[in-house]
Amino acid sequence: MDTPRRTTFWLIDHHWVFYLLAGLAVSVFAAGVLKHVRAWAQGAAGKPVRVTWATVRTVLVDTLLGRRIFAGDVVAGTMHAAILWGFLGLFLGTVLNAFDDYVYHVLRGTVYLVYSVGLEAAGLSLLGGLSVALIRRYVQRLDRLERRWEAVTVPAWLLLVALSGFAVEGLRLGYQDPAWSSWSFAGLGLGNLVTAAFGLSRGDILRLYPLFWWVHAILSLALVAALPWTRLFHALAAPASIALNGTPEPVLALETTGEDEEADGTRPRFTFQQLVAFDACTHCGRCVAACPAVRAGEPLDPRAFVTANKSAVPVRRGMSPHRFDDKTWHCTTCRACADVCPVHVPVPEAFIRLRATLIDEGTRVPPRLSQALDRLYRYQNPWEASKRRRTRWAKGLEVPLVSRTGREVDFCYFVGCTTSLEPRAAKMARAFVQLLAVAGQPFVTLGRKEPCCGDIARVAGEQALSEEQMTASVALLETHGIDNLVTTSPHCYHTIRHGFPAVSRSRPENGASSSATGGQDREEAGSNGPTGGKETGTPPAANGPSRVRHYTEVLQELLEAGRIAIDTPQPRTVTFHDPCYLGRYNGLYDAPRRVIDAIPGIRRVEMAHHGPDSLCCGGGGARVWVGDLEAEVKLPELRVQEALASGADTLCTACPLCLLMLEDACKSAGATDRLVVMDVAELLARCLDLPE
Ligand code: SF4
Ligand code: SF4
Repeated sequence: MDTPRRTTFWLIDHHWVFYLLAGLAVSVFAAGVLKHVRAWAQGAAGKPVRVTWATVRTVLVDTLLGRRIFAGDVVAGTMHAAILWGFLGLFLGTVLNAFDDYVYHVLRGTVYLVYSVGLEAAGLSLLGGLSVALIRRYVQRLDRLERRWEAVTVPAWLLLVALSGFAVEGLRLGYQDPAWSSWSFAGLGLGNLVTAAFGLSRGDILRLYPLFWWVHAILSLALVAALPWTRLFHALAAPASIALNGTPEPVLALETTGEDEEADGTRPRFTFQQLVAFDACTHCGRCVAACPAVRAGEPLDPRAFVTANKSAVPVRRGMSPHRFDDKTWHCTTCRACADVCPVHVPVPEAFIRLRATLIDEGTRVPPRLSQALDRLYRYQNPWEASKRRRTRWAKGLEVPLVSRTGREVDFCYFVGCTTSLEPRAAKMARAFVQLLAVAGQPFVTLGRKEPCCGDIARVAGEQALSEEQMTASVALLETHGIDNLVTTSPHCYHTIRHGFPAVSRSRPENGASSSATGGQDREEAGSNGPTGGKETGTPPAANGPSRVRHYTEVLQELLEAGRIAIDTPQPRTVTFHDPCYLGRYNGLYDAPRRVIDAIPGIRRVEMAHHGPDSLCCGGGGARVWVGDLEAEVKLPELRVQEALASGADTLCTACPLCLLMLEDACKSAGATDRLVVMDVAELLARCLDLPE
């Protein structure tokens, strides 16, 4: 019996034509890859690239295992795994075959038989996965999947390559009839089917085989050539995008203001990481399905935005500065899209980059937002044309100022612009400091010196102002030796936790502090004296404060330590709305729930969307100051409907912006008799009968 082995170029003449076509295909492939890499290289510098074990693990888990594709859609995950592993198996089989032909004969005997079975399994896996993909798209017609011609071209092409490969193999085996042919069961079966269906004789096979072989070869080589020019390029760009964007640290778009000033003004200057991510997009539509603005019927389409910015079409379509100008203000930067994206496309950060371009150009910025930014610049807050009213919220309460307190108290309450100046949100701050007093917890505030933390300017695209405010805040904290902060706003919390260390790292050693102090408060700089902190010998918080907590964490600690105790049962049914910058950005889901659960008598229920799957209230991304936008239903109204459906009589949150948005929506929905909107601190204060 002959030794089982691979037959290459059976009945095929003019091998040079094949090699010529292969060379051509590889050249077109290389040109395509180069085009992408060149486009990426034009991107602005993003956050520093750090490769850690966590990065490697994320890349492996999210590419080879498709973790995010499986999440919430097991069929999609299985389908993608079948296609990916089938494709990889066939690719490796082809490489091994070339090695066997040109370098060293390994595909002989048992090795060849195992190789044959492996290729059959890979081919079947690819065929199965592609069939499911097409059924989901065209038979089940899932909402989030596109049905444009590009969407069918790639899977159909792959399907033809796999089928023609099996047919070529089957015809050859059918004719040669080697003893080991049954090891190539799929090819043999298809070959027999083709032979029977068309009534092919052995002479017909001899005549037709070269035709089948060339069709398969040309389809395969054309696929190689087209890979960087089609959606299939995501297979190469996805691992790079996951490595660059998939780090667990939240991204703050604050790195590149200097470079932006040099941009040519004709297009948003996305970062290198964002450009790679755009090219990795698989068009899966998960971002669209997750986006609360889409759900509310607003004209926002994160997938279209990403697609339009792919580098295969850089100037004509991709970098058009005006296509998404108006739509960018619809994004709340809630991060729901980025968190479900299988290839970690940082959509909210990219929208912020686009906003930065619009702000630089001074065009298409909503007038109300322009006014808010103007106040932010002049008065360090987006609400009031005054700095003096920043302490108005504390009227009648015992609220110590850092400037009048000894350095022994370093627990500082960073009140935030909205909580300080918006009358409804100010009740949060009043409730919180009263609770601190009940617990006997000493604290200080920065009073009128407290600057805006920089979050509003950052998400609105005012990068320079944001950096200035963050740097100023860091300098002010250093000045007073404050290393332990608590915030009420999740936006302040996020910025202080992640933005302050970033600006601290980028500051030139010594020297930056004084200029920053000037920037933080043009009227008041120096009035408290930058030497104050040094007198105590307290080491400055060189990377921002080392301890930053959200007030719900502090309340949880005080309750668990028995420093706040509620004895009277409260007959309420409470549901908690997760603020995006607390939950999704910082993973803080438990603390507010544990505070609510610590109140006797309260029954806590969850809304349909909660935790990492929560829906944005519509207040993030500076939208509170943008004003009304075109929509079928207002974003917070969706949330109020979910709260009512949960059976709750109290909708609790832990963010001043969420509080404002949800309470307004509750009023406009005429639901105030069925639902009370309040903040966690207010709920606790009410349980203790503290004055409102
Ligand atoms: S951006 Fe991500 S989630 Fe949206 S379509 Fe592309 S790959 Fe899918
Ligand atoms: S960040 Fe939120 S609002 Fe913006 S595109 Fe993504 S899901 Fe939509």
